[in-house]
Amino acid sequence: TRRLTERRDTVLGASYRLFYRNPVHLVRGEGQYLWDASGRKYLDAYNNVASLGHCHPAVTAAVTAQMQQLNTHTRYLHENILNYTDDLLSTMPAELNKAMYMCTGSEANDLAIRVAKAYSGGEGIIATTEAYHGTSELTSGISPALGTGQPLAPTARLVEAPDAYRLGSTAGADGSELGTWFANRIRAAIADMEAHGIRFAGFIADSIFSSDGVLPGPAGYLREAAEVIHRAGGIIIADEVQPGFGRTGDAFWGFQRHGIVPDVVTLGKPMGNGIPVSGLVAKADVLAAFSDTIPYFNTFGGNPVSMAAAQAVLSTIRAEGLQEHSRVVGGSLLDALRGLGDTHESVGDVRGAGLFIGFELVKDRTTREPHRELALAVLEQLRERGVLTSVAGPHGNVLKLRPPLAFQPGDIDWLVGALDDSLTALYA
Ligand code: PMP
Repeated sequence: TRRLTERRDTVLGASYRLFYRNPVHLVRGEGQYLWDASGRKYLDAYNNVASLGHCHPAVTAAVTAQMQQLNTHTRYLHENILNYTDDLLSTMPAELNKAMYMCTGSEANDLAIRVAKAYSGGEGIIATTEAYHGTSELTSGISPALGTGQPLAPTARLVEAPDAYRLGSTAGADGSELGTWFANRIRAAIADMEAHGIRFAGFIADSIFSSDGVLPGPAGYLREAAEVIHRAGGIIIADEVQPGFGRTGDAFWGFQRHGIVPDVVTLGKPMGNGIPVSGLVAKADVLAAFSDTIPYFNTFGGNPVSMAAAQAVLSTIRAEGLQEHSRVVGGSLLDALRGLGDTHESVGDVRGAGLFIGFELVKDRTTREPHRELALAVLEQLRERGVLTSVAGPHGNVLKLRPPLAFQPGDIDWLVGALDDSLTALYA
């Protein structure tokens, strides 16, 4: 590993960050498991890209077959893109009836921002205070998660994400009060834009607020904010790069948990189970403002091989019942993780939807003071116990547990046992 680390340092741009003090050198993956170069097996508790499971045979077969046949671009006719689009749109509310394809989540969000601007005639975008939406100039300008070195767009405004655990006493534990609290934040951000001569274009959020600390509930809390946004002439962009494709268990898309219909939905990560494919789905009239006047061509986006991969993903989610699986196994995992609170005082809050869970560590349960150092130490301990994951949230104290949907009930013991042992070891 040292030699590989040194080679990286020599030839790769310094912006890349490795996970772990003792980096992991992976050479193989299957289902929810990974193996390193020494043959050691790991439980992947973090990767929603390989959502069906690493190297899923259905995707490998579909990609191989199409690659042997033809791969070209969207300026020629091909059935794959049309068949896939029919299938994809059937998972969405009827108003969301136009699709476009790219290769990364960043490109999808970049286009979504351009669509918001074209439709509204404005330029102000509201995002959350820990959001990450991508690598391009437009998306990094609304991605405070990149840190203070990355300037925010002057037209951007940030709102705190609705954190039921931390705002419980001020916002009320019940969804409607949290919803009102959040809607008021949006209202204030729009007013601030107007005061600075910036016309509001839209609001973008990951509908489970993953980088804001994994904030799934209470379901429905986005409804009031959605009304405020629409009344002010802006659009709602649901960034489904993380919660999408059945992961939250109770719905196929994260926004559906909140009972809202966004104007634009962006898709990525799990869409191709590892093949770079992303998409944007929009209401026809919203998209028209952009697409009637500006051409869009993405060399690799929507190509027959990408579409074959994406089709295999959708078909496999259905064939293997992965949304329901995520709901059931995610529920059992959530219960088992909550049980750790009985023996470990540092467990502050455990929340989730399906196989998307936030495990929040605190110094004191009464004050709820975040315990960032502990979370980082737990990550390293978990790594030594063969469990791979990472942290999220403004205080970096929330373990983000988001395994491939191939995660099985039998894996709960490994994950929860490793967490239990890690917490015990750190307090011994
Ligand atoms: N949106 C969200 C919510 C993401 O998590 C990410 C990637 N971490 C992106 C957008 C950007 O996707 P990509 O890395 O594929 O460009």
